[in-house]
Amino acid sequence: MGYNKKVQKEWLANIADILSDQNDERRASDQKRIHAVREMIVLDPLGRKLLDWADENGIVILVDNQTTSGGYYVSGLNTIGLSGMDKDYNLVGALAHEIRHAWQDSEGLLTCLSSKYPLPKVQEYMLQTRFFEADAHAVGNKVKKSVINLVLDSTGHEAKNLDEKLELLKGFKAFFKDRSTKDLYDKIKLRDYADRIGIVETKPPFGGSEYDNEVDFSKLHSKGVDVNDENSIRKLGSLFGDGNYLDDLPENFHRNQLYCGDFAFSSLIKDKREDSRILDYLMQDFDMALTGKKIEHSKIDPDAVLFRRVKHLQNKHKLKS
Ligand SMILES: [Zn+2]
Repeated sequence: MGYNKKVQKEWLANIADILSDQNDERRASDQKRIHAVREMIVLDPLGRKLLDWADENGIVILVDNQTTSGGYYVSGLNTIGLSGMDKDYNLVGALAHEIRHAWQDSEGLLTCLSSKYPLPKVQEYMLQTRFFEADAHAVGNKVKKSVINLVLDSTGHEAKNLDEKLELLKGFKAFFKDRSTKDLYDKIKLRDYADRIGIVETKPPFGGSEYDNEVDFSKLHSKGVDVNDENSIRKLGSLFGDGNYLDDLPENFHRNQLYCGDFAFSSLIKDKREDSRILDYLMQDFDMALTGKKIEHSKIDPDAVLFRRVKHLQNKHKLKS
């Protein structure tokens, strides 16, 4: 929903320039790889639906030799990058995952922050991310699993048919049960948020992208799901007109600690990879607020803590807001 035709046009023109600078050999081998992944993804019924949707909606699929992530989707710009370093069967999962993000984007379910619009609260932003990533993980893993099942089944018997909705729901819940995945996105998004409000300058995660180019990203804005409204979150489970795999989640699931609790604030302090004095300082404040024994967690509004800290830092370092 963060689409802006002018920005998109500019972005695609820049991509075309980057592609034309690549040599013929590279272009041919990329096309071959994309073709192979496309052939595999349609072995799964949901994979087929995703690819059809992507083709009907003009989603651009590229091979990226810079990213260390399996794949990425560029919000508002209908572009998917698949890692040239990854194996084809992994790229099947990555492509399904990223097409799902493109679909979420078209439905207004994918958040895209813009400095020109009011920001969500930091925890809301992290929660939104958890939900749309859980959906993309569920979809990507399901498609990958069923394609691998099919390809590895050399007996000539029909491979076991996975119950699609059940498998997706299991995958969605698994995202929240897996501490490390949840933490990873919490951290990325917290840094991202800190970057947007001007406290730190973060490097793009996973090594960035070889197709990154200068367009006016501030014009791309999408609010994303309303984390206080479970029906808004449930829209993520829609299956291209074939029901909704999140229907079986209990009422008020979004208030459950599994989904909305346990933010990765404390582990952020321990992670020094993208060390930044200011961010560290900020995180310690978060950590004290959220883990301090004398403080009752439910009474803490991390946003209030964050903005108090931002104000303090802005005065101290004269950072622009
Ligand atoms: Zn994702």
